[in-house]
Amino acid sequence: MTAMQDTIAANLAAVRQQMNQACQRSGRSDDEVALVAVTKYAQPEWVRALISLGQTRLGESRPQQLAQRANEMPDNIEWHLIGHLQRNKVDLVLPVTQLIHSADSLRLLRRISQTAGRLERRASVLLEVNVSGEESKDGFTLDAVRAAWPEITRLEHLEIQGLMTMAPRSDAVDQSRAVFRQLRELRDELAASESPNRTGHPLPELSMGMSGDFEVAIEEGATIVRVGSSLFAGLSLETP
Ligand SMILES: *Cc1c(COP(=O)(O)O)cnc(C)c1O
Repeated sequence: MTAMQDTIAANLAAVRQQMNQACQRSGRSDDEVALVAVTKYAQPEWVRALISLGQTRLGESRPQQLAQRANEMPDNIEWHLIGHLQRNKVDLVLPVTQLIHSADSLRLLRRISQTAGRLERRASVLLEVNVSGEESKDGFTLDAVRAAWPEITRLEHLEIQGLMTMAPRSDAVDQSRAVFRQLRELRDELAASESPNRTGHPLPELSMGMSGDFEVAIEEGATIVRVGSSLFAGLSLETP
């Protein structure tokens, strides 16, 4: 192994161990929480190193980069789109993306459903919720998602798997915990709600937690954590 591969192997092992410990602390089983390795700032060799270590769920925030990497990398990878998606990029990413975490408006959801219909499939999406209400953030506000929910549940070619959020960037763990808890409560509320076609929606997934706060997120019920910088710590000074 090269030094780069060693570093990534050690980082990945450390993140997995922290995930397992957080599961243990909260009485959850390890296999309830999936790791999406966020590779938006990673060089292609680093991504290949992760893949060779058995990490098959990868997340990108830019549609173009996701599409390009999905073409270049082995095809057993599950690609997750975690960043803002413009409607004119839906065609580009939908065929190569397993889960869109960042569905942040009704207009976008309508477009995704339409495109999935044309491809004769259903698209798996998470609704991105701006729980903290920060102006700089994408996502439905809590009230907006409640208001849009009846129409969202009627979009035919979507599989709404759950919700996604980002906690405010800060060292205040309590603040992040409160945001994650509110996302879980919103999920429970929507899951129990009636809609024209059925009673109750499973909404199994909660995508929450990044390098700085994934352990707290797991304690609050995350089923998917999105971790980037912790996996590549120690590599930023290396020349490609
Ligand atoms: C970059 C990014 C992450 C990963 O953040 P790190 O702090 O590097 O772990 C997770 N989620 C989203 C939406 C991101 O854009």
